[in-house]
Amino acid sequence: DLDSAAAPLPSISKSNIGNRWSDITSYATKKKVQSWFQLQNGNWELGRIMSTSGTESVISLPGGKVLKVNSDSLIPANPDILDGVDDLMQLSYLNEPSVLFNLQYRYNQDMIYTKAGPVLVAINPFKKVPLYGNDYIEAYKNKSIESPHVYAIADTAIREMTRDEVNQSIIISGESGAGKTETAKIAMQYLAVLGGGSGIEYEILKTNPILEAFGNAKTLRNDNSSRFGKLIEIHFSETGKISGAKIQTFLLEKSRVVQCAEGERSYHIFYQLCAGAPRALREKLNLKDVDEYKYLKQSNCYSITGVDDAVQFHIVKEALDVVHVSKEDQESVFAMLAAVLWLGNVSFTMIDNENHVEAVEDESLINVAKLIECDIADLSLALSTRKMRVGNDNIVQKLTLSQAIETRDALAKSIYACLFEWLVEQINKSLAVGKRLTGRSISILDIYGFESFDRNSFEQFCINYANERLQQHFNRHLFKLEQEEYIQDGIDWTKVDFDDNQDCLHLFEKKPLGLLSLLNEESTFPNGTDYTFANKLKQHLNSNPCFRGEREKAFTVSHFAGEVTYDTTGFLEKNRDLLHLDSIQLLSSSSCHLPQAFASNMLNQSEKPVVGPLHKAGGADSQKLSVATKFKGQLFQLMQRLESTTPHFIRCIKPNNFQSPGLYEQGLVLQQLRCCGVLEVVRISRSGFPTRMSHQKFARRYGFLLAENAASQDPLSVSVAILHQFNILPEMYQVGYTKLFFRTGQIGVLEDTRNNTL
Ligand code: ADP
Ligand code: MG
Repeated sequence: DLDSAAAPLPSISKSNIGNRWSDITSYATKKKVQSWFQLQNGNWELGRIMSTSGTESVISLPGGKVLKVNSDSLIPANPDILDGVDDLMQLSYLNEPSVLFNLQYRYNQDMIYTKAGPVLVAINPFKKVPLYGNDYIEAYKNKSIESPHVYAIADTAIREMTRDEVNQSIIISGESGAGKTETAKIAMQYLAVLGGGSGIEYEILKTNPILEAFGNAKTLRNDNSSRFGKLIEIHFSETGKISGAKIQTFLLEKSRVVQCAEGERSYHIFYQLCAGAPRALREKLNLKDVDEYKYLKQSNCYSITGVDDAVQFHIVKEALDVVHVSKEDQESVFAMLAAVLWLGNVSFTMIDNENHVEAVEDESLINVAKLIECDIADLSLALSTRKMRVGNDNIVQKLTLSQAIETRDALAKSIYACLFEWLVEQINKSLAVGKRLTGRSISILDIYGFESFDRNSFEQFCINYANERLQQHFNRHLFKLEQEEYIQDGIDWTKVDFDDNQDCLHLFEKKPLGLLSLLNEESTFPNGTDYTFANKLKQHLNSNPCFRGEREKAFTVSHFAGEVTYDTTGFLEKNRDLLHLDSIQLLSSSSCHLPQAFASNMLNQSEKPVVGPLHKAGGADSQKLSVATKFKGQLFQLMQRLESTTPHFIRCIKPNNFQSPGLYEQGLVLQQLRCCGVLEVVRISRSGFPTRMSHQKFARRYGFLLAENAASQDPLSVSVAILHQFNILPEMYQVGYTKLFFRTGQIGVLEDTRNNTL
């Protein structure tokens, strides 16, 4: 814990707890101490102070450049001896450039993991690093390696689960592409080896390729971006063996099925199917090449560098075998995928001069009907008309072109989302078969991090709301935990308040005048539009300090991680997520069990039929729970579950936006460190008494400095005597039952004396 104390630290005054330059100037020039100087491009460089007079200092930079600068612009750097410490808490000066440098120093040597107090920071290497595999697992298990690692976190989780008989959670967060999913897999790998033996661990690992095929896609940020959140709960028996698992998924981005941006792809499985399906399957599903499908064609991107979709298809099929999805079911799954692709090719033709359309009866339409196993006329009607009830009469309304396209896309999205849910259900059945999932468990959460783009929509709104909740969990837990240790050791401690995000959560959750309530209310109004929604927000929330109305239909929220401006375009439609009853009826008319299951699933999610927004005349549509309501429910359940566990936090960091190895962009890293509150945790931890040393260790190390022989006394008395002899100010330390607690930098004073004496 405190081996850095062995190094001479540049502490010169007893009040040196901060990072203020004035604290150390005279010392600095005397010793030509190192200091951070910020270049015009925002990066920091390490220079040496040559001299200081008044407010000016002369500093020499690497490469021989000498500059005269304002002393206030300099930030003290740590002595070389602290380069690359494996816990940021050990840094004598905990300022931003020092933290950035420390992480970079390690990253350059492929040490991608660093502790930030209780949190593990993982920086994406974007290349294979030699840190994994059975030898490493064995070493972490035997504790013959101590450097920070996901394995070490997983190991602690297992130990604490057994020791305390408390369920554990490993909570992984970070931006898209930061390495969350890989980190989750690395943790699973460790748990599988340590808890292996029953064979179920193999099944658990095989869920990864399946969920990635169906739930991941290439985006501009990540070639394998998860478009859903995931919690996997791994259960252990009394003997510590894995006994089963349960997966819960959150908010799959289904719009991607029908629409994706230039240079991105839809879900991997579509490309894998087209590339890898054997001849017989191709013929049966009438599969074409990817570029013949409109849904796949629109983004102009079909392949991923270094990935062979055909090979991946076989991996997915094998994984489906492992989790006991039968061959027949697999074929139905592929048929649904092909149906979605063919749906995208269905076109419409004008039938009157009121813009009404009907579906063109071509190869696409015929294939969809065949694949869904429904009547082609029924399909055609479901896509181009809508049954409605006016008074006591049933009438059939013809759809316009844009309504028909919307209906078609809604059907495609629903089929895909249902298919995804169905697969998760099958996996869960397989992982739970005959097993009691009642023992202890370790949950791994891999969920989308905070997102702030140029244009932020409903998806970012939900994701950032989830992050706000997770951040609260993080704050409460870490600051609480820290303070509990003080109390346990019996030291005087006035509770430290931390930056609370409760106000922002209120803004989202308050009833009836919070963002979610107002969104839901507006979504049920037949005449509600994105405009009326935005206006309502401005009308009711403008006095809230976390909210700001913007021009047009936009609004800004002050999140924990920063301000985000949301554009309400499409909010109501995405929140309603309507699938017309005609489409549901179509699926239930299928003679295949999969679409039937989808249809009854959709009906189950519905509440009683109410007036749908598009049907002022009266409802043939069923109103489901809104997407926001469902998501909030899931999130509350998740938080409840996490509350009853001991959490372990991993913060993944993306060092550059190019998915490129070896490139460490300071500004980008800093922004993420600030966003996820890591610096805050270390700062707050250190505003307490971050340095701890047992009385024994302390007495052994410094006892000889005492004038009198202390050998005969007990360690606590020796410790107290040392503190007195060296006039350490009482506010700089606390004497606990078992340990001494010091403020940042204090131990350096003693170290200096010790070294001068030795
Ligand atoms: P996220 O889930 O946060 O969006 P991923 O876990 O998918 O990010 O990581 C993105 C990519 O980064 C991976 O496909 C992989 O190429 C690379 N990567 C992430 N973590 C590691 C690691 N520990 N070792 C090697 N490569 C990694
Ligand atoms: Mg991911």
